[in-house]
Amino acid sequence: MRAQAEHWRRDGLRIAVVPTMGSLHEGHLTLLRAARAAADLVVLTIFVNPTQFGPSEDLARYPRDEAGDLRKALPTGIDCAFCPDAASMYPPGAQTFVTVRELELPLCGQSRPGHFAGVATVVSKLFHLTRPHVAFFGEKDFQQLAVIRRMVRDLDFGIEIRGVAIVREPDGLAMSSRNAYLSAEERVQALALSRGLAAAAAAFAAGERAAEKLLAAALAPIAAAPLSRIDYVELRDAEELSPVEQVTRPVVLAMAVWVGKTRLLDNRVLRP
Ligand code: AMP
Repeated sequence: MRAQAEHWRRDGLRIAVVPTMGSLHEGHLTLLRAARAAADLVVLTIFVNPTQFGPSEDLARYPRDEAGDLRKALPTGIDCAFCPDAASMYPPGAQTFVTVRELELPLCGQSRPGHFAGVATVVSKLFHLTRPHVAFFGEKDFQQLAVIRRMVRDLDFGIEIRGVAIVREPDGLAMSSRNAYLSAEERVQALALSRGLAAAAAAFAAGERAAEKLLAAALAPIAAAPLSRIDYVELRDAEELSPVEQVTRPVVLAMAVWVGKTRLLDNRVLRP
């Protein structure tokens, strides 16, 4: 992969990369189309990265469908799919990790310790292997995007990081490979997340700026969904991810909510 990327670079071609864990849906395809419009060569990476899963998480049952993924991705005009296996990405003795100290800690970092070190490490490796000029990530994983932006800045990767807005199902549910785990009843109750965000956004549009009130608006639909269990629902500064009590700068209302046995993420940026 690296030899090919170096070859493209010597020819003066601009490379875009879209890192994914496969099980592609319209959200991933939107990233690929944005990449297609921004570069000469689009590299899709598919790698279910073991180091970003905790010991009791869903690594073994994470949905995998490489042939289906390639069928979906090809019409977006990708030039290359890089699908390494875990043994080649992490040979015996691998012990080097990238950590983004502060940004890893809140939100998803609370319930998934080590997750973002796994993400930052594998994204570093994928950047070194694919040698991109520009890389695309979804705002759906808001904290991941913040972590990667900071890593790229702090470690002088010299890669442009572009965020892509959350792609949703027609009824508002944020698209996710993990939505496939939901039963019919859970799928209905999963709408509580986007409804909560919409309620908070409506309150914000009506002038509400107090975190407590905005969070209360977001929490109401979730409290009314009996199959849901909150991991976190928080209002944080959109860049530093620090806690916010009164909105004076762009903030993110971010949530992780279990619906049955599936942990779902959603968020919405509020800009005064
Ligand atoms: P994943 O394979 O789920 O790790 O996601 C790969 C990339 O696709 C990440 O940058 C995600 O943020 C992005 N992504 C996943 N779901 C969505 C979505 N619904 N809308 C936009 N981007 C998404």
